[in-house]
Amino acid sequence: MRTASILLASAVALGGINPASGQPATERPSVAPAERPSVVAAERPSVVAAERPSVVAAERPSVVAAERPSVVAAENFYGDVARQIGGPELPVTSILSSPDQDPHLFEASPATARALAHARIVIYNGVDYDPWMTKLIRATQGADRRVLVAGDLVHRQTGVNPHLWYDPAVMPAVASGLADALAAVDPAHAADYQQRLQAFTASLKPLEDKIVALRTRFAGTPVTATEPVFGYMANALGLVMRNERFQLAVMNDTEPRASDIAAFEADLKGRRVRALLYNSQATGPTAQRMLLLAKAAHVPVVGVTETEPAGTTYQAWMAAELDALEAALSGPP
Ligand SMILES: [Zn+2]
Repeated sequence: MRTASILLASAVALGGINPASGQPATERPSVAPAERPSVVAAERPSVVAAERPSVVAAERPSVVAAERPSVVAAENFYGDVARQIGGPELPVTSILSSPDQDPHLFEASPATARALAHARIVIYNGVDYDPWMTKLIRATQGADRRVLVAGDLVHRQTGVNPHLWYDPAVMPAVASGLADALAAVDPAHAADYQQRLQAFTASLKPLEDKIVALRTRFAGTPVTATEPVFGYMANALGLVMRNERFQLAVMNDTEPRASDIAAFEADLKGRRVRALLYNSQATGPTAQRMLLLAKAAHVPVVGVTETEPAGTTYQAWMAAELDALEAALSGPP
């Protein structure tokens, strides 16, 4: 599976830094399930009102439930927050939702474009994490929708670490932006959205407390990672992140430099780091070799993912990764 991805996307992968290098991709079968709901709804007139796009609702004013605006999120953690703010009746479609695929190598299909065309609110990460979204937005211009870009909401520019949702400051801003957008397109439920925004903000408190507690205990501790996904969180925890150039190479699906590989190996073999954060979702042969080296050297490994695993929430996902990190750092040096 990985080999096929590399063959397909070695050129596209550079899009992590430069969108101009992207090329039209062959359709990727693993993407299909995430895109299904809104397409199915549009093609099946008998489907229940709440699942139908709001375009249809406008033609049938008597169906109150169908008036909820539909949301398309490029990444499922933003879709999750949209659902938490919008409530259970809000139709949300997330395009990237499988922790088994590498988001840095994703290319959109026509089904993705169809989902976007029906959305009243679109949210994506930006800062070149999902350059395919910019193309799709342009291709479906004229649609009656609001587009939210997480990077813009927190004033980040292309070139920064794109994994913004690991920055504890980002999700409150995204949630607030979503609540505003929902209230604008669906003013009848503005009070509900505001109430859920407050509940969401309050629900982040245990996570914020955990970050403070871990920072107090572990600030200054050296760690390393195979890919930069956890970078902002490591920074919030005051950890010293090593081997960042190696991580960028893995993110961009290029081979790390020999000197960077050697430095990484020395860190693991010499046990100069207290944990290896391993991103199972954006990896490669060299990163996998570092995983084996860490295990051989008894450096604790903490698994992290780009995409929110199924059946959890953003809050629980982050808390689980912090718990795993805490356990790793609490072991004997
Ligand atoms: Zn990544």
